[in-house]
Amino acid sequence: MMKRIVVLGAAESGAGAAVLAKVKGFDVFVSDMSAIKDKYKQLLDEYHIEWEEGRHTESLILNADEVIKSPGIPEKAPMVLRLKERQIPIISEIEFAGRYTDAKMICITGSNGKTTTTLLIYHILKNAGYNVGLAGNIGSSLALQVATEHFDYYVIELSSFQLDNIYKFRADIAILMNITPDHLDRYDFCMQNYVDSKMRITQNQTEDDAFIFWNDDPIVKEEMKKYNLKAQLFPFSEFKGNGAIAYAEKGDYVIEVPTPFNMELEELALKGKHNLYNSLAAGITADIAGVDNQTLRECLSNFAGVEHRLEKAGRVRGIDFINDSKATNVNACWYALESMRQPTVLILGGIDKGNDYSEIYDLVREKCVGLVFLGVDNKKLHDNFDSFGIPIADVQSMKDCVAACYRMAHDGDCVLLSPCCASFDLFKNMEDRGEQFKHYVAIL
Ligand code: ADP
Repeated sequence: MMKRIVVLGAAESGAGAAVLAKVKGFDVFVSDMSAIKDKYKQLLDEYHIEWEEGRHTESLILNADEVIKSPGIPEKAPMVLRLKERQIPIISEIEFAGRYTDAKMICITGSNGKTTTTLLIYHILKNAGYNVGLAGNIGSSLALQVATEHFDYYVIELSSFQLDNIYKFRADIAILMNITPDHLDRYDFCMQNYVDSKMRITQNQTEDDAFIFWNDDPIVKEEMKKYNLKAQLFPFSEFKGNGAIAYAEKGDYVIEVPTPFNMELEELALKGKHNLYNSLAAGITADIAGVDNQTLRECLSNFAGVEHRLEKAGRVRGIDFINDSKATNVNACWYALESMRQPTVLILGGIDKGNDYSEIYDLVREKCVGLVFLGVDNKKLHDNFDSFGIPIADVQSMKDCVAACYRMAHDGDCVLLSPCCASFDLFKNMEDRGEQFKHYVAIL
């Protein structure tokens, strides 16, 4: 009998997985508790895939041979628990897609810097003439591309949720940018659970594979002691020493192996310390993949950057506005603040995922001349920052927020939207938050 695959969740990942399963000849059913977007309904219909929305019909799900769970569905969702009771295997879309391609897999994870690094690697490989696809959290799903394209390489951004249900999947090149607290609400507020999930990026790697990681991350350092990794290791760091094979030294960006490479730091397109890390990780990857030095140098210096990541949103009356809406955790905000060279009015707030704000206390004291709390519930922010003696404003819309910042900031200051929180209390998503910010800045 034909094997039955049930896909839970029909957004980018689930719809793509369903198409791949169908193309591979399975009996496929898709179930989503919420409404399915029209574009995904059309895709499913086009492939004659059965689907339901607004409910999970047990009788159509519990008869699955295997279930592909979308990363947005928590492990504790009732239907997931039911499946576990019945011992029906649950895998991720990435695990499933990995079974049907021989392409080289370049996988990027970390708490921060994933998207920037992923897009930079893609930019380099593409310009070097590689037949490469962009997948995971950005672009179209890996599964859909495996079903409909024939790439030799995939550059895949993986969140911890996507790593949670991989078992046999193997990355040819795995990149771990850093591990700092994030999404703890999905990991029983236990940091180790989240750390374990991130470390899965190295799972199944062999001596032919490469593991690139930030050598100075205290958490990764501790984890490395527990694992006996077979992969070739490529640690990178801000400074030479401690075994790092790529770093900054005397104004130069340096990669020692596999092919020695260097260029002036000044020439890097991406600025700020965090972006040095991203450029190092991307450069090592390209070097391992065999990109020539000339192309690598050009691409590291002409990369256009990524929207909503320390993006310049305009200058009004001598005040610079910077959109870092993507900073949805405290560590991302730390790096953003760290890179500010002007007195800063900082916008914080939204949905807090278990934040510990003490990490940014020192930088807030040192750099902030105003704080604007943009959220439905700003109590925790007040508890943390009221005693600092910095002017504070509470707002509940982007219009009021930009107006409040404009009142607080002076000529030569900057306004930084780097909110440490998710955006769903007041916005559709972080893109909407960033776009509204840019809109109200543009009409000041
Ligand atoms: P992710 O995809 O992991 O969320 P992004 O590349 O979208 O990462 O960057 C998110 C935010 O994190 C940026 O706005 C920036 O402030 C910060 N950031 C970027 N790269 C790093 C890094 N390597 N380390 C720490 N923070 C970073």
